[in-house]
Amino acid sequence: GLSTRLQETFQRLRGKGKLTEDDVKEAMREVRLALLEADVNFKVVKEFVEKVRERAVGQEVLQSLTPGQQVIKIVNDELTELMGGTQSRIALASKPPTVIMMVGLQGAGKTTTTGKLANLLKKQNRYPLLAACDIYRPAAIKQLQVLGEQVKTQVFSMGDQVSPVDIAKNAVEHAKMHGFDYVLIDTAGRLHIDEALMDELKKIKEAVNPDEILLVVDAMTGQDAVNVAENFHQQLGITGTILTKLDGDTRGGAALSIRSVTGTPVKFAGMGEKLDALEPFHPDRMASRILGMGDVLSLIEKAQANVDQEKAQEVGKKLMSGEFTLEDFLDQMQQIKKMGPLQDLLRMIPGLGNDKALQNVNIDDKQIARVEAIICSMTPKERQDPKVMNASRRRRIATGSGTSVQEVNRLLNQFADMQKMMKQLPGLAKKMGKKKGKK
Ligand code: GDP
Ligand code: MG
Repeated sequence: GLSTRLQETFQRLRGKGKLTEDDVKEAMREVRLALLEADVNFKVVKEFVEKVRERAVGQEVLQSLTPGQQVIKIVNDELTELMGGTQSRIALASKPPTVIMMVGLQGAGKTTTTGKLANLLKKQNRYPLLAACDIYRPAAIKQLQVLGEQVKTQVFSMGDQVSPVDIAKNAVEHAKMHGFDYVLIDTAGRLHIDEALMDELKKIKEAVNPDEILLVVDAMTGQDAVNVAENFHQQLGITGTILTKLDGDTRGGAALSIRSVTGTPVKFAGMGEKLDALEPFHPDRMASRILGMGDVLSLIEKAQANVDQEKAQEVGKKLMSGEFTLEDFLDQMQQIKKMGPLQDLLRMIPGLGNDKALQNVNIDDKQIARVEAIICSMTPKERQDPKVMNASRRRRIATGSGTSVQEVNRLLNQFADMQKMMKQLPGLAKKMGKKKGKK
C-alpha cells in the first residue's frame, strides 16, 4: 500500500548524513510512484511532488542533521495542506433549518451516513429531521426509518409514489413548522452517473436551496471516487465531501485528490458501519495515517528536536567565538523551555562536556522570566552593545520591565562575566582536544 511504499523510501533516506539534490530527486520519484499507485490524480501528484521538492532541496534540509526525517516532515506538511490544512465544518443557515443534501452513487453510504450525521448532531443537542427522498431502491425508506429509530430522530416520508422534489420541499416546510434546526435529505443514487439522476438532484437543489450539498464517496473506489467527485461537482456544485469506508484497507488516493480536484473540503470520514463511526475529517491526522502513523509521527517529532539541536549548536559556536550578544541571550531564554537548561546546551559543545567550570554557570529557572523582561525592555542597540548602558538607561529598563536597577545591574554583570569566560573557551577547548588526542 501507499504507507509501506513511502516508508520504505524514507527508510532509505534515514541512513543518510546529508541530502543531495539527487537524493531528493530519487525520493520524490518514489513518492510520485507511490501516490500514483494509490490512485491519486496525476495532476495532483505532479503539483504535490513539485512543492515538496522545492521545499526539500532548500537549505532547510541541507542543514538538517537527519535529512530523511526532514523530508518526511515536509511531505507530511504538504499532504496536510493538500487535504485542506484544517478541519472544515458544516455551513449553517442564517435562518434555521440548515438544509443538507446528501448525494452520491448507490452503495457509497448516503443513507448510513445520513443516520450517522443525525446521531452526531443529536449529541450536540441539535434537532435534525431526516427526509426520505430515495423512492427507487427497494426498502430504502425503511432503512432510513430504522436508522431514525436508533438515533431517536424523526424521519419525514411520503412513501414512494410522490416525487423526491416534492418530498424534499415538504420536509423543509415540516422542519420550519416544527422547529427542527437541520434537514438531512437522503437522495437516491445510481450505479453510474446518468442524466436522470442528475436532473432529479438539480431539481431538488432548486426546490430547497440547500446550505450544503455533501457528496458521499466510497474511499475504497480510488480514482473512480475522484472522477465521481469531479463529475458531481461540475453538474451540481457540491460544497464538500464525506469519505466513507476509511476503516477498511483503503488506499489513501481519494482523500488526497478530491480536495484538489473539486476545490471543496472533505468534511467527514466514515470509519465503520455503526452509527457512531463518523468523524470530522482532520487533514493532519489523515496525512499521518497515509504516512504510516506511529512510527512516522515520532520520527517527525525527532526531526523537530533535531532542528532545535541544530540551533543550539549554532549558539554554541557563537558562544565560543565571543560573538554572543544579549540578543542571542534573549533568543536563548525564549528557547530554553524547549531545549532545557543552558548547562545542557554548553555540554553540546565538543570537548567541553565535562568541564568543571561550566557546572558553576548556573541559571535559576525562576529567574528566566525576569531576565527575559529586562532584555525585552532594552533597545536593539543596547542589546547589541551593553556598554552604552548608562544610569538613566538602566533606570528606564528597570521601570519598563517591572524589576529594579539592582537586578538590571546584576544581569549586565553576569552577562559581562559570561562573555569574558566564553572568550577564553576556544583555547580551553583546544587544550582539552589535545589531551584527548594524546590518549
Ligand atoms: P447508499 O446506497 O449510498 O445509501 O449506501 P448505504 O448507506 O446503504 O451503505 C451501503 C453499505 O456501505 C452498507 O452496507 C453500509 O453499512 C456500508 N457503509 C457505509 N458507510 C460505511 C463506512 O464508513 N464503513 C464501512 N465499513 N461500511 C460502510
Ligand atoms: Mg441509500
